Amino acid sequence: GNREAFFPRKGTQEVRQLVNAINTLLSEFNNVENWRKQLMQDLTHELRTPLTSVLTRLEAIIDGVYPKTEENLNSIYSDIERLARLVNNVQQLSDAEGARFKLDFKDVNVANLVKSVHESFLFVAKEKNISLEFVHPNRPCRAQIDHDRIIQVVTNIVSNALKYTPPGGKVIVGVNISGNEVIIYCKDNGIGIAKEELTLVFNRFYRTDKSRSRESGGTGVGLSVSRALVEAHGGTIGVESVEGNGSTFWVRLPISHTII
Ligand code: ADP
Repeated sequence: GNREAFFPRKGTQEVRQLVNAINTLLSEFNNVENWRKQLMQDLTHELRTPLTSVLTRLEAIIDGVYPKTEENLNSIYSDIERLARLVNNVQQLSDAEGARFKLDFKDVNVANLVKSVHESFLFVAKEKNISLEFVHPNRPCRAQIDHDRIIQVVTNIVSNALKYTPPGGKVIVGVNISGNEVIIYCKDNGIGIAKEELTLVFNRFYRTDKSRSRESGGTGVGLSVSRALVEAHGGTIGVESVEGNGSTFWVRLPISHTII
């Protein structure tokens, strides 16, 4: 039961191989254990505030000290809705973090994939009076990826761009090939992200001060799910942004998948 112990690499070649395998297993156990502890801490922290707020307000309604108006009930309802969303998102996060073991790699036309996400958001964009453009690549962009997981990533990034861009704004999505990578990008001219928050937005439950104050209803899980999925593909995800001017999110994925 002592997972802290590591075996010294000694003995015959077979024994050394066995020791290596066990040591790798032990360090994997430790990683999972640390991840679980950190997740529990973050999750408890995230759940505590809205739960306390809902409980106190309901209690006050029962005691007759908080008026049972439609507005107050709606506000409690939307807090509970957000909690339910958070729980669903945590499930997604846990699936995404375990994804590297079960991705379904296939040869995919990435331009078509991004175009299909673009099409699925045209209605939402129109409703919000945002122009949503798709830039056709000038050459075929194919890669070995898990189609559904990358749809999930692009959906998240485009949905964020629409969420954090005010009406009248513009969002552009596109695909490119550079060397042995395919690059998916999404550029908006929305509220942008402050320099010191650029790396933090990929952390789970992180929401920038600006988006918190806008009460977008986000849970801060989407980008951490996206990062886990992209990294499971051996790719990278990042953002460039100027606060107040807009952001460009990009995803780089290896064209061919090599088994790690
Ligand atoms: P959320 O559900 O809160 O949108 P995400 O993990 O998808 O969670 O995003 C984390 C945070 O990053 C958001 O709360 C927001 O503050 C910031 N963010 C993400 N995309 C954008 C964007 N396109 N423009 C400005 N801020 C963004």
